[in-house]
Amino acid sequence: MALSGSAGQESGPGVNAKLWRFHGGVHPPQHKAESTGAPVRRARLPKRLVLPLHQHIGEAAEPVVVKGEQVLKGQMIARANGYVSAAVHAPTSGVVLDIGDYPVAHPSGLSASCIVIESDGEERWVERTPVEDYTAINPSHMRNMIREAGIVGLGGAGFPSFIKLNPGPGKVVDTLILNGIECEPYITCDDMLMRERPQDIIAGIHILRHALQAKECVIAIEDNKPDAYRIMSEAVASEEKIRVALCPTIYPQGSEKQLVQVLTGKEVPSNGLPIHVGVVLHNVGTAYAVHRAIHLNEPLISRYVTITGDAMGQTCNLEVLFGTPIIDLLDECAADMARLDRLIVGGPMMGFAMHTVNAPVVKTTNCVLATTTQAMPAAQTAMPCIRCGACMDVCPVNLLPQQLYWHSHAKEFERAQEYSLFDCIECGCCAYVCPSNIPLVQYYRYAKAEIWAQEREKDRADLARRRHEFRIERMEREKAERAARLQKKKADVAAGGTKQKGDDKDSKKNAIQAAVERARVKKEAVTNEADPSSEVEDSDKKLD
Ligand code: SF4
Ligand code: SF4
Repeated sequence: MALSGSAGQESGPGVNAKLWRFHGGVHPPQHKAESTGAPVRRARLPKRLVLPLHQHIGEAAEPVVVKGEQVLKGQMIARANGYVSAAVHAPTSGVVLDIGDYPVAHPSGLSASCIVIESDGEERWVERTPVEDYTAINPSHMRNMIREAGIVGLGGAGFPSFIKLNPGPGKVVDTLILNGIECEPYITCDDMLMRERPQDIIAGIHILRHALQAKECVIAIEDNKPDAYRIMSEAVASEEKIRVALCPTIYPQGSEKQLVQVLTGKEVPSNGLPIHVGVVLHNVGTAYAVHRAIHLNEPLISRYVTITGDAMGQTCNLEVLFGTPIIDLLDECAADMARLDRLIVGGPMMGFAMHTVNAPVVKTTNCVLATTTQAMPAAQTAMPCIRCGACMDVCPVNLLPQQLYWHSHAKEFERAQEYSLFDCIECGCCAYVCPSNIPLVQYYRYAKAEIWAQEREKDRADLARRRHEFRIERMEREKAERAARLQKKKADVAAGGTKQKGDDKDSKKNAIQAAVERARVKKEAVTNEADPSSEVEDSDKKLD
């Protein structure tokens, strides 16, 4: 049932700060208790681990190992490729069997580039150098250590965490929010982490606060997790700048902008980020991973995963090494493969159906949900929109989902953008309440994908046009340069011709003078031969 759209102040039991409300939201059945009955245990070590190079938002990592190479547990096997990227590490020791395309957990069902490791069963760690005093490390170096550890947001988005630890010049972080809301039905991995690792989470918060220089930290927990709330409250009892906020359960409270509004009353602007209102959010699992990266020098190689659904023999939470094939988890938890109808990665609201059981667990895999047709009947046939407005009442972003649907359906993508299509967080609240069973989010995803494709095509066309213009410009320039060279040459030739004429004149004159001189000498010689006295005379002159 949807809550009313009005925002107002609220408070919860034991909470020492006021809370606000965001517009809309829904209350789907929780199904949380099914997977919180037993302590978290480690999943079995698989024989083969398949590690996609792209487990995060941004560029895929670049392999730094080759086929046949021996690797140690925790060894980097692929480095971050660019700023928005994340490294991948070997979750166990063994040998690199292959580097190639394998099925991955993705809505498209396509394969992607992966490194395959055959485990040697020995779990031999790479050499580690834990940090004893994190306060001795400057925030910039600490961000780099977190980057090297391959840590990404573990709430499901997979954004490289070190980027969110760099607020930028002049930006002040008033509040660090630790997101323990986990509002999606069925998923309980954060709940169990808070119950079992409170001190490790607090240790991670200290590091995050140091890196961000954040003034305070609020750990947000929904009131459907009373054990986690009690345990975390006890853990922060002696902390001055860390408090726990208990928030009334409502979906999708765990979304960044909605949670910022609930805890601070501030609205993050459209196209803006929480840092623009002085807030940074990290998931509780991310804080735990940061603690292990700094205090134990362990990169991100595993996570808590909720294994649940009515097709599972055992519903629980497991600590799973990345690269573990989902089929191994189904086997370990005795899934009823004959009754299994839908296999979902993530929750029922924002997760996606798997096309294969062979895809591996990755950094963003928070839940494996295996259901039968009894628990999750097939989607009913979509009917025409009756303009009831129910979707609008529950939209947490205050959008007009029916308008988005009409324009997406009619391929009027510009109009859809005018209705702020890209502010849609794809929470599924609108589709959840739609009496006509219209798969609204699928239309929004389709419209976004088409717009991105058109923009890519436009970028390509712009690039081609710029190249063409550059080529024309270059040809014109070369033509002008050729013309200038020709002109200069002509001028040189013209100037060279005048000079040559002058030179010819001089040489002629010289030649005439030389000829005249030769003639004079010859004439004198002839005269002397004809008059011998002149020679005697000359001889006498010599005797004298
Ligand atoms: S809830 Fe469904 S039927 Fe009602 S206005 Fe929205 S899209 Fe149309
Ligand atoms: S999926 Fe988008 S349009 Fe629908 S309720 Fe969520 S934010 Fe609003």
